[in-house]
Amino acid sequence: MLSTLKSPPCIITCAITGATSRQMNSNVPITPTEQARAIERAFQAGARVAHVHPREDDGRQSHRPERYQEVLYEIKSRCPEIIVEISTRATSMKDGIDRGSCVELTPKLWGNDDRLKPDLVSLNTGTLNLRDRIFLNSPLDIELQARRIYNAGIVPELDVFEIGQMENAFELVRKGVLQKPINFLFVLGSGGISADPANLLHFVRSLPPGTHWTGLGAGRYNFPIASLAIHLGGHVRTGLEDTTYIRKGIKAKSNAQLVEQMAQLCELYGRPIATPQEARQLLGLAPLIEVRNQKSEVRSKILAG
Ligand code: ZN
Repeated sequence: MLSTLKSPPCIITCAITGATSRQMNSNVPITPTEQARAIERAFQAGARVAHVHPREDDGRQSHRPERYQEVLYEIKSRCPEIIVEISTRATSMKDGIDRGSCVELTPKLWGNDDRLKPDLVSLNTGTLNLRDRIFLNSPLDIELQARRIYNAGIVPELDVFEIGQMENAFELVRKGVLQKPINFLFVLGSGGISADPANLLHFVRSLPPGTHWTGLGAGRYNFPIASLAIHLGGHVRTGLEDTTYIRKGIKAKSNAQLVEQMAQLCELYGRPIATPQEARQLLGLAPLIEVRNQKSEVRSKILAG
């Protein structure tokens, strides 16, 4: 069901780093402190979700548990209102089991205190050819990942790169593995389905009523696909992971600049930007006041210890 006549709140996600190198854009944040600062500024510009790939100081993608700990701590100390999503997407790791191990970091690192965990984790819904690599996600792995995410008290975002991957997600809904509200991310022009507007329409028409979704066009399709998503009542994503340019031929100065432009687009289409509280409610997360209290307790506990 399309909702072109409504103006529901729009959630802007900022994907701050991804696989973008300093050669591609010198402003990409790398260290935990840089990432947290970038997220704080993006939040002030209107971002409500931060999509995060931890990096080592030399720029390499990091899967070290200690690095996840550092990044989460930095982000949540500096910007407690932001919803933090960590990515499990990495073709360099051999299968979905390894990729998903980050969802179980919190119990390992913080004992039984699960309050400094990510709010969202990306759950890939199918296998995909990505350039010369195979991004492997078997149906069994996807189900296992979904169960691990819920068991860790985190909410999954269902990342979809091809229309057939929707069926894998629907099957998990039928089996009762995926719990409402269901949050989809449709990725167009990034190795899977092309960024043709008709493809986004097809995705959206396939959804059951009440499903939340975000439209993401990669690279030069970032803002065109976002425009359509905003018009159709969906949510949007931008950031230096998704596009290194603010407009044709001009590199983005920061993640915040991209978010500012996305916020202007929302305003142009008459879509209010979701408040932090609204965003949490829409995505099925605990209310903000509860999280704030928990975080301040955790922070003082850590500083005292
Ligand atoms: Zn990512």
